Amino acid sequence: MTVEHVDVLIVGAGLSGIGAACHLRQECPGKTFAILESRDAIGGTWDLFRYPGVRSDSDMFTLGYQFRPWTDPKTLADGGSIREYVKNTASEYGVDKAIRFGHKVVRAEWSSETARWTVEAEHGTEKVVLTCSFLFANSGYYRYDQGYTPDFPGAEEFTGQVVHPQHWPEDLDYAGKRVVVIGSGATAVTLVPAMAEQAGHVTMLQRSPTYIASLPAVDALAQQLHKVLPSRLAYPILRWKNVFVLTASFQLSRRLPGLMKSILRKGAQMQLPDGYDVDKHFTPHYNPWDQRLCVVPDGDLFKSIRSGKASVVTDHIERFTPNGIRLRSGEELEADIIVTATGLNLLPVGGLSMSVDGREVELGKTVAYKGMMLSGVPNFALTIGYTNASWTLKADLVSQYVCRLLNHMDATSRQICTPLPPSGDQDLIPLVDLKSGYVLRSVDAMPKQGAVAPWKLHQNYARDRLLMLRGSVEDEGMRFSSAVPAEAAVVRRPVVEAAG
Ligand SMILES: Cc1cc2nc3c(=O)[nH]c(=O)nc-3n(C[C@H](O)[C@H](O)[C@H](O)COP(=O)(O)OP(=O)(O)OC[C@H]3O[C@@H](n4cnc5c(N)ncnc54)[C@H](O)[C@@H]3O)c2cc1C
Repeated sequence: MTVEHVDVLIVGAGLSGIGAACHLRQECPGKTFAILESRDAIGGTWDLFRYPGVRSDSDMFTLGYQFRPWTDPKTLADGGSIREYVKNTASEYGVDKAIRFGHKVVRAEWSSETARWTVEAEHGTEKVVLTCSFLFANSGYYRYDQGYTPDFPGAEEFTGQVVHPQHWPEDLDYAGKRVVVIGSGATAVTLVPAMAEQAGHVTMLQRSPTYIASLPAVDALAQQLHKVLPSRLAYPILRWKNVFVLTASFQLSRRLPGLMKSILRKGAQMQLPDGYDVDKHFTPHYNPWDQRLCVVPDGDLFKSIRSGKASVVTDHIERFTPNGIRLRSGEELEADIIVTATGLNLLPVGGLSMSVDGREVELGKTVAYKGMMLSGVPNFALTIGYTNASWTLKADLVSQYVCRLLNHMDATSRQICTPLPPSGDQDLIPLVDLKSGYVLRSVDAMPKQGAVAPWKLHQNYARDRLLMLRGSVEDEGMRFSSAVPAEAAVVRRPVVEAAG
């Protein structure tokens, strides 16, 4: 039986996988590629999540692809519009034809003898095997089959309905009902004002507050620029303006956290009713950007609190009761529907297991190279977007770098690129340096990062742009080589052992 071979195999047809395919098509036109997608749809996150009001919480001029302008002046976009944008990009660039839906990649084995990955996917009850020269994981960062719900004591006693935002029932009728949304992250702050439009009352129940910033729903500069410039000229201006604003707000938070804290507190206070307990409900105990900052368009969350349709309770859950939730303070919140906006389960590299020349790769023991490849794992890259800015800013850079690497290997007649771990005793820290619960729950299983470039993740677009688009692809962190004939394989062992 002949096994199909492609130059590049992309895992995932979400925002990143489609972007990766478009970059390959433009920057490496001679390369063959396929996209394996476990679901039956394009769009990943933006197809999966269907809860009321689902939207981006970063601006679309940076969440959109660098190569395809986002033309709507709305700053934050609804999930359906983002899904359409990704789908339309795929068909405009003709990469939709390369997608094989219903193919879940489960295993990848690298051989230095052939300089190829052998990749196994499940397609229904069938097992499908392909080989590729470069494996490019664009599989997101969380489990699709199950969102995270803590074990709430008494959950089985509750007589109403419990819903997780990741598995929203299409026909859920909440008109006039009492809803409690558990959580205070981006999903909760989106759901509360959206559900408050129809529900009897919505309570956001949080254990501790989150920083929430209000953003104008429509970008005034975008409105003006679109009147006088074509999108291909307006878009880069808007993109850089927002990169600058995001970077400045992140740097301000890191350097002067006290000042940023008081700006955010004041912003919330101005939009809440007089006498509202801002410190209890909207002033977190951590510094801004230790966890992702939430944004709300035109202060919609604050508006629904002001109108009395929504409220915030900051307390701990003692247990679920037949009629709702009993809190540690003794108060009972009555509910017809409880929404558990309690987060995601992290899943690195789409859950696939990998081996390099017969040795299993332990992700937690690898060190990321430029935040996109793993020490000791040849011809492999993964897309992890920024946590302090739009995902796509980094995703575009990762794809562009992969194309540069592939072109460089062709030009220098080498087939293998293997990132090396940092030498010496550099302190290693988790690759995703956020203190959010969903990160901390899985931190040991995640790759690490080093203290200096090219192993340090800077979370800074302007700096990364220079490093990834202008910096040399030949550096101390990367070893280039050619396919290793069987008898010479032993000599290569030390590089492989770096995989842990
Ligand atoms: C509700 C929500 C809102 C968000 N809002 C923002 C935002 O405003 N701004 C921002 O920057 N980020 C946001 N994010 C992060 C968001 O996930 C990224 O913006 C972006 O969508 C990630 O794209 P992706 O293609 O890398 O991953 P995903 O969107 O997760 O897509 C991954 C794809 O890979 C497929 N896949 C996974 N494993 C396998 C496998 N083993 N085999 C085959 N296929 C596989 C999946 O089915 C999926 O289609 C949000 C996330 C969530 C959950």
